[in-house]
Amino acid sequence: MIPLAIPCILGNEEKYLKECISTNYVSSVGPFVDRFEQMLCENSNSKYATALSSGTAALHMALLAVGVQNNDLVIMPSYTFIATANAISHCGAHPWIFDVSLEDWNLNLKQLEEVLEQKTYFDGSILRHNKTHQRVSAVVPVFCMGATHDYESLARIASKYNLSVVVDAAAGIGAKYQGKEIGDLPADATILSFNGNKTITSGGGGAVLSNNESVIKKVKHLSQTGRVGPNYEHDCVAYNYRMTNLQAAVGCAQLEQLDDILKKKKEISLFYSEAFSNNPSLELFPQSQGGDSPNWLSGVLLKDLKVEQVTDRLQELGIQSRLFWKPMHMQKPYKNSLCENVENANSIWDRILVLPSSVSITQKEMQYVSDTLLNIISGIKNEK
Ligand SMILES: *Cc1c(COP(=O)(O)O)cnc(C)c1O
Repeated sequence: MIPLAIPCILGNEEKYLKECISTNYVSSVGPFVDRFEQMLCENSNSKYATALSSGTAALHMALLAVGVQNNDLVIMPSYTFIATANAISHCGAHPWIFDVSLEDWNLNLKQLEEVLEQKTYFDGSILRHNKTHQRVSAVVPVFCMGATHDYESLARIASKYNLSVVVDAAAGIGAKYQGKEIGDLPADATILSFNGNKTITSGGGGAVLSNNESVIKKVKHLSQTGRVGPNYEHDCVAYNYRMTNLQAAVGCAQLEQLDDILKKKKEISLFYSEAFSNNPSLELFPQSQGGDSPNWLSGVLLKDLKVEQVTDRLQELGIQSRLFWKPMHMQKPYKNSLCENVENANSIWDRILVLPSSVSITQKEMQYVSDTLLNIISGIKNEK
């Protein structure tokens, strides 16, 4: 079976893990955690970084640190992994679901601006929803498949409406916008995930990046049990979300290979683009507008077929494939969330076919994947 996205463990992972064991630093304090955070800062051009236990935890901590409170509304796109909505819920806040744009499959900024204009009002400096009167405190743009959003427009809208910006760049490591790394772009915080299927992994883990020292201090305090001083003294209800030295050891070894990994991800994206560019039934994944996508996952948009019409046949022929994210407004816990017109998410979600994109995939395997998919599609067309 050619897998969708599996880790590529080819560097110093084993060596660093042995170092953890021989030095007895296996838990949440240790030199690899500090090194990993420092490497993340250098790599993303961020002033500060805090490594945590998952991308979900990173989102949760970042939202609390920028001031999201109980009963707030937090704006997010429908087409994302459920962690975005869950992190908002973990704060006691509620997702306000928006559509994606067809150009980049990211938060639809045109709709965002129109809806904020029509459906919110200022109560002093607090933005509120016209009908529910809930405070609207933050917006969480998501890098779909790793591709950046239009930072300039979002920063302008966020500043006009006094919204904090927490970027869900879970799969965005290595992304750039107008030549700038993600830690050097306008946002109050940016989060990354190092889950096993992401571009690089720490086994499991996440991080918050920020250039704002007070945001990072809050993230650290809240994620480390709210402890004050060396004894068992705590000043708030907090969380235990730290990354362990073992995870950070793997993360460091992975980050050392980031350039090679991104290069291979780009090759995979180019290969599929070439293989499918002239087929009338297929459209390519969008690239970042004004940015460099790290090509976390590659694939195609089926124009007149559903993903479910091809997944079984791909599986039978040894190619792992599945329906990708189901939009949030269709998920049981978020069906009744406040939701705008989501026609674009509705139209694309069941036609997005993610193809095997692991760094270890060979040229021959990619050829097999593209030939097989083209055969399956022409087979379905001929049956009609
Ligand atoms: C992977 C992912 C997350 C969550 O990361 P975990 O480390 O699995 O908690 C959040 N948002 C998006 C868009 C993701 O793809």
